[in-house]
Amino acid sequence: MKKSFAKIGLILAFICLIFTGLLKWHKSFLLDELPEYKRSALEVMRQPLEDRHITVARNKETVDYPASFMLVAAMNPCPCGHYGENNPAHPCTCTPAQVHRYMSKISGPLLDRIDIQCEIEAVPYEQLRDTQPGESSAVMRERVLKARAVQNERFKHSRLVHCNAMMNAKMVRQYCALDADCDKLLEFSMSMLGLSARAYDRILKVARTIADIEGCDNIQKQHILEAISYRSLDRNSWAG
Ligand SMILES: [Zn+2]
Repeated sequence: MKKSFAKIGLILAFICLIFTGLLKWHKSFLLDELPEYKRSALEVMRQPLEDRHITVARNKETVDYPASFMLVAAMNPCPCGHYGENNPAHPCTCTPAQVHRYMSKISGPLLDRIDIQCEIEAVPYEQLRDTQPGESSAVMRERVLKARAVQNERFKHSRLVHCNAMMNAKMVRQYCALDADCDKLLEFSMSMLGLSARAYDRILKVARTIADIEGCDNIQKQHILEAISYRSLDRNSWAG
């Protein structure tokens, strides 16, 4: 199992805001301590995360309901929360089996459907004392709105698709075309990291969004690399 950190944020909320849409009927869910939920309950989210609707079958009736939402989730790397930290004051007290059991509550297929996965290291003391203000929410919001405007224009002729996250496979091919260098880079990365076909489409959508934020018409190598860096949990090392 790979090195883990104190807190793992599965989705970077800022980019998801751009990504999942600002339509009124969109809902957001924040699931903290994700492995504390029943695995069977978490697995139910696989269909709506993929298709944005959920099918309920009872007797002879089958009904589809819209279920488009933004999932934000967070989890610790182990039950005690200190696995992977290099902090002698708070060593991890879990056994390898406990760590494995905890991590494997999140299945690979569920993780596959999460667009952006980030590992977040414990904040060092010097940074806690840092008085320099970071980028303000107002400035971030401007960047988000600008990228959203690009996407609104891109999908202005579509009734169902309003942002990059909603693209179907055909649209991904159309709007996320790669030049030969980017294609080679992605192919190499996919095989080296053991990423799935589902992750492939998600990497392209995230790369397209990063390019939109930077105002680039075409996806470039750095956008692909950044998008791949957000797949940190579903590589070969994941326990599920
Ligand atoms: Zn632990």
